Amino acid sequence: MHKRMTREEAEASIAGLHRKIERYAELAVKKGASVQPGQELVINAPVERADFARLLAKKGYDAGAGHVTVIWADDAVARLEYEHMDVSYFENVPAWKREQLNSLAADGATFLHVRGNDPNALTNIDPKKLALRARAQSTQCDVYRDGLDFGKNAWSIAGAPVAAWAKRVFPDASEYEAMYRLWDAILVAARADGPDPQAEWERHNATFEKNKRMLNEHSFDRLRYYSANGTDLEVGMNPGHRWMGGACRTVDGVVFFPNIPTEEVFTSPDCKRINGVVRSVLPLVYAGNVIQDFWLRFKDGKVVEYDALQGKDVLRSILETDERSCMLGECALVAKDTPIRQSGLLYYDTLFDENASCHLALGTGFPECLDKGLSMSKEELMAHGVNQSTTHVDFMIGADDLEITGITHAGDEVPVFTDGRWSWSID
Ligand code: ZN
Repeated sequence: MHKRMTREEAEASIAGLHRKIERYAELAVKKGASVQPGQELVINAPVERADFARLLAKKGYDAGAGHVTVIWADDAVARLEYEHMDVSYFENVPAWKREQLNSLAADGATFLHVRGNDPNALTNIDPKKLALRARAQSTQCDVYRDGLDFGKNAWSIAGAPVAAWAKRVFPDASEYEAMYRLWDAILVAARADGPDPQAEWERHNATFEKNKRMLNEHSFDRLRYYSANGTDLEVGMNPGHRWMGGACRTVDGVVFFPNIPTEEVFTSPDCKRINGVVRSVLPLVYAGNVIQDFWLRFKDGKVVEYDALQGKDVLRSILETDERSCMLGECALVAKDTPIRQSGLLYYDTLFDENASCHLALGTGFPECLDKGLSMSKEELMAHGVNQSTTHVDFMIGADDLEITGITHAGDEVPVFTDGRWSWSID
């Protein structure tokens, strides 16, 4: 039986989280953005969470940042812009905005992005405007984009609640109670609810290192997925594929965590060698729409048949986004005993939801998951099996009984996942 909280009780409960939120802010600044002495720290945050942005700025200076810049974001103003400006406006990033991001990146800043969005902020906005803006930002803010993509600048994304998001995750609670419950859920998901989150993340990263080492040493030819719900899928691996996950390193050797939370070890499979059937185990949220209980059948890399109990037309629009959005760009391994999975929550945000379960992604793959991939053109990447597409959509397939077997080039079979968990011991 769940008793509803009054506004006073909910606000007192949020106040009671203060020490944990402070340690979480330190985690985001020191382990996430990994701010170095004298360095510029750029915080991008929703205005609605100004309290948390100010806390991050203080923790940044405490950690030795040379200067802290805060860039404010607001879903409501962003929506107004999309509603009132013509399509052509989104073809270009304003010069001052380009200069802002490019010059901060060129000066060697580290970027901390606070994610807290209304999941419905952009529903019914012309998708052409969204696509144009995304393209303009990646081509015109090129120094910034390259800095992040090629390891010149450290960066991190961490969550913080805003009211509309909290109400979507906890629709039956009052706004105040939903805010408290989402803060609590974010801290648990981020492994920041204990006495020493930074030490906890050191331990957490050691398990990433072990899992990546095991997978990279085997350098499997393919993985076979099997579970009683109907999943029976073979996923080919590219020669020279690399498993990634956990901490990253800049070209200068600074270690940082791009995502807080993160639970996945992932690579880009050979997009031409995917065969069999895979069934979803969690709802897929796409642009505010929910697709539920669906399956896909692959033949030589392409989806040739599919169905969904709910949202089949949305699933079709994903598969038909472009020529290669019906092919896989990512396969990621996540054990079923992670805090996010155990919370049983749907967060309506990929930063959290993709860490709930083993998943696959339709659409574009990652050049860094292939030996020398970062110096290849799109055509070369595709020729080497790394899919290239304008979209990337994760969906969850980690059933509780999931078995994954790695098959080596010599034909040996190695258990990778047993009953939804890593088959080898973690320590
Ligand atoms: Zn992923």
